[in-house]
Amino acid sequence: MKKIAFYGKGGIGKSTTASNVSAAFSEMGKKVCQIGCDPKNDSTRLLLGHICKQTVLDAVRDSETGEVAAEDIIHTGFHGIKCIEAGGPEPGVGCAGRGIIVALDLLRSLSTLEEEDIILYDVLGDVVCGGFAVPIREGYATDIYIVSSGELMSLYAANNIAKGIQKFAARGKVRLGGIIGNSRNVMQEKELLEEFAQRLNARLIQFIPRDRSVNQAEVNRQTVIEWAPDSAQADVYRNLAKKITDNNELNVPTPLTFAELENLVMKYGNE
Ligand code: ADP
Ligand code: SF4
Ligand code: MG
Repeated sequence: MKKIAFYGKGGIGKSTTASNVSAAFSEMGKKVCQIGCDPKNDSTRLLLGHICKQTVLDAVRDSETGEVAAEDIIHTGFHGIKCIEAGGPEPGVGCAGRGIIVALDLLRSLSTLEEEDIILYDVLGDVVCGGFAVPIREGYATDIYIVSSGELMSLYAANNIAKGIQKFAARGKVRLGGIIGNSRNVMQEKELLEEFAQRLNARLIQFIPRDRSVNQAEVNRQTVIEWAPDSAQADVYRNLAKKITDNNELNVPTPLTFAELENLVMKYGNE
């Protein structure tokens, strides 16, 4: 079983990329489960065709006995993909990180995911707090991919996530599988992301163009793989899925300083 996590700044395209990659894995005949670890709860929307109706934390809250059954929290999406949302607290109340700990502990105790070929965690990476580090700290995921554009704040979040991976790699199996570049059309973005990845002791595993088909598919609550299966963009996601499946170049990252990040952005942004 491959245990993968996508991390990255909020709004950078983690859930869109994760859902398309999950769809591509399932086309390859793999049994896939995608787990959203973001209080937004929308990780699996494009696979389910709607917002998840019951998150793990909803089920825990609604249960009078504290018992939660697998069928309460595992929802079936496109191509039979298993979809789970950890859920989060009411806005302004409680700790979202704690919610992820509760949700993942519960999933482990249910042990219904042991048959899967691939488990893909989609994790918010703005706050590298104890809660959001759980998927890597507790060994739930070993192969980490960071989604980033060439914008400074996205690179800043990516670099922080790399610091977390470096720390936990020292005592476990967690490794960085690569940077997934999701374009925001900034200057020389691919070259910038290639150098960023290389300086992190990683590689840019895929550069994903910014494309209207992603927005059209989103409006129709579908992945690009489902909405426009013959498009070039669908092939980009299939390509990424194949590279992730075959990847055996996973490394311990070497994060940059903030000044180094700024210089990197300046080097490509000014040319
Ligand atoms: P995150 O999960 O990181 O918060 P989302 O996957 O929800 O981010 O994406 C944020 C927005 O960006 C969505 O509206 C999505 O459709 C859009 N988006 C993501 N990737 C692309 C892309 N390659 N081209 C065009 N729009 C994109
Ligand atoms: Fe919880 Fe993390 Fe927020 Fe701290 S930073 S309150 S651990 S979600
Ligand atoms: Mg998301």
